Amino acid sequence: MRFAARFAPSPTGHLHRGHAFSALTAFDAARAAGGRFVLRIEDIDATRSRPEFEAAILEDLAWLGLAWEQPVRRQSEHLADYHQAIDALRDRGLVYRCFRTRKELDIGRAPHEPARPFAGGPLAPAEEAARLARGEAFAWRLSLDAARRALGGFDRLGFVEEGAGPDGETGQVRARPETAGDIVLARKDVGVAYHLAVVLDDALQGITHVIRGQDLFEAAHIQRLLQALLDLPTPTYRHHRLLVGPDGKRYAKRDRAQTLRELRAAGVTPAQLRAEMGLLGALDSKRLAPVRRPRPSTGSG
Ligand code: GLU
Repeated sequence: MRFAARFAPSPTGHLHRGHAFSALTAFDAARAAGGRFVLRIEDIDATRSRPEFEAAILEDLAWLGLAWEQPVRRQSEHLADYHQAIDALRDRGLVYRCFRTRKELDIGRAPHEPARPFAGGPLAPAEEAARLARGEAFAWRLSLDAARRALGGFDRLGFVEEGAGPDGETGQVRARPETAGDIVLARKDVGVAYHLAVVLDDALQGITHVIRGQDLFEAAHIQRLLQALLDLPTPTYRHHRLLVGPDGKRYAKRDRAQTLRELRAAGVTPAQLRAEMGLLGALDSKRLAPVRRPRPSTGSG
């Protein structure tokens, strides 16, 4: 399959240096491989996503010198597909209803923040029926126990890491989905949660290499499990180091990291940003212009 990488921002704020590093790293890798570069807007959370942030993202990425395939996939336009996948998992007894509160469900948590493991399991049928009758909202959780039974254990679940996890994990990595507990696949308010949408879209878009920050390394363990359950191909992972600011902390939207538009307004150029990040200069990266015809596959990747 032709090399394909993606950048998948959530339009919940403006892009900062950390995003630029991820986007450029994925883009450069796609170019170097003569492959595809895909931009995906992860806007399933309608309460936090805003069209003006999406417009700003497109503008910032174009300013950085990136070009991507059209049309851009917007997750909010494909909710029915995600629901279909959840229905299929439900029909196989792999998910259960959870009536916990918003806080207990970790709603509003960014994908890179660690989930609190949850393993409450389904409610007793009578209590569940009573709550449903009262019209109480619920989320769908993936049952790790049921998943383990369906796959005959997690021992053979692995993925290839071409970058490194936060503890230096690299090469053939064994997936540890159990550390996250019974994750939420569909939420009361949004109807679908991050991990499910990501694995479905990565497969649908033919993503061969998931190139993203190390802060999402734990997500790969959960996503690997979902790929196995949904019979989807497993991409190669390339988690990259995180850029840190002058205070030694990683750039984060929530900490009001200086945005790309602020940098641009201050006269910073994309070439300067690349140099500061230790990425190839714009000229060098032009020399890596896409090879129209990919070399015949050697069977790897
Ligand atoms: N949408 C996620 C974020 O903005 C990234 C998802 C991914 O790269 O897998 O943090």
